Amino acid sequence: MNPLQYAIELMYPRLCSACFSTLQVYENHICIKCNLSLPKIALHENEQVKLDKKFWGKLNIKNTYSFLQFVKNGPVQNILHKLKYKNSPELANFMGKWFGNQLLTLGFDKEIDLILAIPLHPIKQKRRGYNQADQIAEGIAEVLNIEFRTGLLIRNQFTETQTNKSRYKRFENMEGVFSITNTDEVKGKRIALVDDVLTTGATLEIAGGELIKAGCSELSILTLAAAL
Ligand SMILES: [Zn+2]
Repeated sequence: MNPLQYAIELMYPRLCSACFSTLQVYENHICIKCNLSLPKIALHENEQVKLDKKFWGKLNIKNTYSFLQFVKNGPVQNILHKLKYKNSPELANFMGKWFGNQLLTLGFDKEIDLILAIPLHPIKQKRRGYNQADQIAEGIAEVLNIEFRTGLLIRNQFTETQTNKSRYKRFENMEGVFSITNTDEVKGKRIALVDDVLTTGATLEIAGGELIKAGCSELSILTLAAAL
């Protein structure tokens, strides 16, 4: 570190995105302590079944993998908050790569052909300047060496009146929200759909449903965090 960098570091200490402690020179985004102690969801075990269950009877999913366990007011919530509201595309990319490395140990790169992310509403994306799900997906894609595409799954600008005919009340505001711009690019592909956090799964269910309708051969869900 040169003297100028050192001075900047003293004036504006970089903080851990999970616990807000000051990062050491050799640490990036997440401190070593959090690196070791963040609540990770074991990718091989029963916890993944709990995630799969969120989609049972709703959407035919090959695998659901989530990296970190979301607990209200915990360090994972701090990370998610920063991804969304603190202009942190680099953090999202960093977390995506970390998750990607875990997925690589499962051989997940052999199971998919294409990675897509849940798109933000265009107005929200313009305001935020980036889509955190895109950044996470890009990090994962880079590590897995799998193609990542934007603009294939899109979120429409929609009005209230379009949502009247929904069968299920909880989806009333979701129908017609997503569409596929080129179904030929989806047909026959094994797709991983990425989002920042999995809670009820409603958004992933609607977007994933469009991919299945468009003829993808397998659909997996990847989220950086999940509420178990
Ligand atoms: Zn920390």
